[in-house]
Amino acid sequence: MSTVVQLNSKAAQFISKPLKMFIGGEWIEAQSGKRIEVRNPADGSLITTVPEADKQDVDLAVAAARKAFETGPWPATKPNERAKLLLKLADLIEENGEEMAHLDTLDYGQPLSTTLNFARAAADNFRYYAGWTTRLNGETIPSSQPGNIFNYTRREPLGVCGAIVPWNAPFMNAMMKLSAPLAVGNTVVIKPSEETPLSLLRVGELIQEAGFPNGVVNIVTGYGPTAGEAIATHLDVDKVAFTGSTAVGKKILQNSATNIKKVTLELGGKSAHIIFADADYELALQNAANAVFWNTGQVCFAGSRLFIEDKIYDKFLTDLADYSKKYKVGNGFDPTTVIGPVISAKQKERVLNYIDIGQQEGAELIVGGEVKEGALAKGHFVRPTVLANVNNTMTVAREEIFGPVVSGIPFKDTEEVIHLANDTDYGLGGGICTTNLSKAHKVAHALKTGNVWINTYNITEPGSPFGGYKQSGLGRENGFASIDAYTEIKNIWVNID
Ligand code: NAD
Repeated sequence: MSTVVQLNSKAAQFISKPLKMFIGGEWIEAQSGKRIEVRNPADGSLITTVPEADKQDVDLAVAAARKAFETGPWPATKPNERAKLLLKLADLIEENGEEMAHLDTLDYGQPLSTTLNFARAAADNFRYYAGWTTRLNGETIPSSQPGNIFNYTRREPLGVCGAIVPWNAPFMNAMMKLSAPLAVGNTVVIKPSEETPLSLLRVGELIQEAGFPNGVVNIVTGYGPTAGEAIATHLDVDKVAFTGSTAVGKKILQNSATNIKKVTLELGGKSAHIIFADADYELALQNAANAVFWNTGQVCFAGSRLFIEDKIYDKFLTDLADYSKKYKVGNGFDPTTVIGPVISAKQKERVLNYIDIGQQEGAELIVGGEVKEGALAKGHFVRPTVLANVNNTMTVAREEIFGPVVSGIPFKDTEEVIHLANDTDYGLGGGICTTNLSKAHKVAHALKTGNVWINTYNITEPGSPFGGYKQSGLGRENGFASIDAYTEIKNIWVNID
């Protein structure tokens, strides 16, 4: 028997007070007075409510961000001063990491071990970008023009950046949308998912405590088609950074055409994880399970298409099913839990529906499905699910399920698996398990995806560019790629004579 960890006292205190939005340095209600219910996916209970922002609230937030950009001190703040604030915020996030993790586990459901790691990673992300504030170098370009011409470039912030965040890994995804734009002097209007607004609202308090000027960060809580769309269509927003589904990403791209916003999109995936027969068997088993079941499969780069060399196909899938049966499914506050709930009743229904469609199209369910019995029946729980006899044309191999479901697909040789892996609309992640390093690199180069992991999976770092080929996205986050995405380059010509 394990004991469920009690909700951290600061997190309990935070959710017990009336939560408001953070606009222009003030905590305010939605102008309509409407509120959104926030529920616990582990048991469906109501945690609290948050304001339901609409276009008029987004207008206020954008106006506050514009003021802070044009007349506030932010873009003109010296780089080392911006760095100090980012480092201060990183320290505050780390000091309050347990509270952040508890808030995410509460409204998102994932095990505390995972949400604690995200909190640490978020603090490191701010530290990484604090380093960039003093490194925004321009170039001097040798000029061949007649006379004495000095030709140089400057990197300048874009202005007001809109950020729209999904419900999976809510804290980490939100922090990645603040660190880089703030480092280079932009102001931000950020909207969390309506499902998981808690940790970001708490960060608003830490932003105040760190001493960021008013209006530099504005947090609006609201639904996508209203508040989200108001950000994406707003004529005074210069850039929109979106993480979410490919379907909504397409709308964001269309809507941003209103004023030719700069756009970065981090979208869905259907990543191929390739297991060669010469792989280290135990490591491959562990990687295959981790790649698709971690975070209850609610991961954009989840290794959900598992390509297994035909010589080991049957044994590997049977062993994977046995391996996944050992994963404890349960409440994220139970330290023995490995698989938390999916986010909502709607998401559970969607995942179970895909499992049904898979079977109707000829797949065999080896293990998994809904948790119907006991205390967990009240929550949105799905067991790690392994489908065998899948081919790459079936719906479960084509569409993103975003739950703990893996489709096992056999292959004969390297050429065939490269073709199958690339035969998808997506291109976010990819995994390769083999002991033959030249084969590993050959396949890694051939995969049309933004990220490839060899004999490992699920690793990301602030300095590593992350993003997708094809319909998995546009642009990259992290590393220098984010600096590039959040700055304009200005070229200046000077006639020195
Ligand atoms: P979603 O697209 O439904 O919502 C994402 C965000 O967009 C939410 O804040 C939502 O309120 C908002 N939104 C919804 N409709 C909108 C509209 N018309 N205009 C503007 N905003 C709108 O996605 P989700 O269900 O919250 O998250 C799961 C999806 O996110 C999956 O497809 C997953 O692959 C993807 N994702 C991608 C990455 C990545 O880095 N590539 C990371 C995490 C999640």
